[in-house]
Amino acid sequence: MAKTLIIGAGGVASVVIHKCCQNSDVFDDICIASRTKSKCDAFKEKLQNQTKTKISTAKVDADNVDELIALINHYKPEIVINVALPYQDLTIMDACLITGTHYLDTANYEPIDTAKFEYKWQWAYREKFKQAGITAVLGSGFDPGVTGVFSAYAQKHHFDEIYTIDILDANAGDHGYPFATNFNPEINIREVTAKGSYFENSRFIETEPMSIKRVYNFPEIGEKDMYLLHHEELESLAINIKGVKRIRFFMTFSQNYLTHLKVLENVGMTSIVPIDFEGKKIVPLQFLKAVLPDPASLGPRTKGKTNIGCIYQGIKDGKPKNYYVYNVCDHEECYAEVGSQAISYTTGVPAMIGAMMVLTGKWNKAGVYNVEEFDPDPFMDALNKWGLPWKESFNPELVE
Ligand code: NDP
Repeated sequence: MAKTLIIGAGGVASVVIHKCCQNSDVFDDICIASRTKSKCDAFKEKLQNQTKTKISTAKVDADNVDELIALINHYKPEIVINVALPYQDLTIMDACLITGTHYLDTANYEPIDTAKFEYKWQWAYREKFKQAGITAVLGSGFDPGVTGVFSAYAQKHHFDEIYTIDILDANAGDHGYPFATNFNPEINIREVTAKGSYFENSRFIETEPMSIKRVYNFPEIGEKDMYLLHHEELESLAINIKGVKRIRFFMTFSQNYLTHLKVLENVGMTSIVPIDFEGKKIVPLQFLKAVLPDPASLGPRTKGKTNIGCIYQGIKDGKPKNYYVYNVCDHEECYAEVGSQAISYTTGVPAMIGAMMVLTGKWNKAGVYNVEEFDPDPFMDALNKWGLPWKESFNPELVE
């Protein structure tokens, strides 16, 4: 039905590729393009005899707009799924704009030299995408992504007004390494060492990293320590969920993870400021990434479950109402199905679904949008069908 260009060949891309190949009715022709072509070829080798989807591969430097344009003009996709890194968002959006191709990603743009992720750079493309008659879907992973779709669904079906949103991201997986990150270590460590923030009464309040801790008893996982972080969907939900008074994001971390991180921070290994090393400039965090386990290698070792969801408090028909919607995902089941752990799985499945929404015309409006700006219903149905079934509770434990 439609040609899809997938850029990136890492942990999340692997799940997107597997899921597109399971969904050949929509994704009948995909091209996998990345910096290291051999990784793209390995996916093709593994999958081409198990799927009706036609697979081709290409080498591309996604920092280079001309290379991207040449590839898009040659392959002629209807949509580009960007599962490279946030640094490539703008170059890929530029190439989509010039070639008239729909765009989707899972993380917002971040300049490589400032650990600050914000939507302002990508929102600046709104008018241009509208005029070109093409759609950009921003942040179609799990968080951001499904958390935005959950919010639109809660707003549409359960509330007249939502007052508070708590996004809770728990990973009870154990990979057996003393220290490793579940997705790209550079992006992950930049996120967790940054200052926290939450939205309250129309403004963002900044907090010291990891300074706000709560304990929560997660369904199917149990009690976990969780810490308040800044997270990119706070920025879009604060605008798109009308009347919301407070939004917070919490993620679980073990004491062991935090102790390792503190030591790495204290010795300067998490810095993104280049230093001179034996006559060469190196970025400590990029060097750290090179010595840490590759997140893609965690799949076969990781046991346990993730639970990611949102708790809403608000009002319906004049009465106060609470609502919790969440997904539980099992690392070993994900690995058995697509050869990846649950963090990549919970990101890659919504990226495939978001692209399917655009290609099948269910999400059809020109411009640049966050996921909560579209109709959540077909996406919620697709989550149940494609491996991320959700559960709900109308009497959840609340976060203090
Ligand atoms: P990985 O590091 O595993 O993979 C990134 C891939 O992008 C690699 O294949 C890499 O190539 C490729 N790449 C990097 N730079 C370029 C470039 N200039 N040109 C072409 N290809 C390039 O990352 P993940 O798969 O873990 O993460 C992918 C994205 O998903 C990230 O943006 C991350 O922030 C996001 N994410 C979103 C989540 C959500 O819930 N919304 C959760 C987790 C991740 P090479 O193989 O050569 O290194």
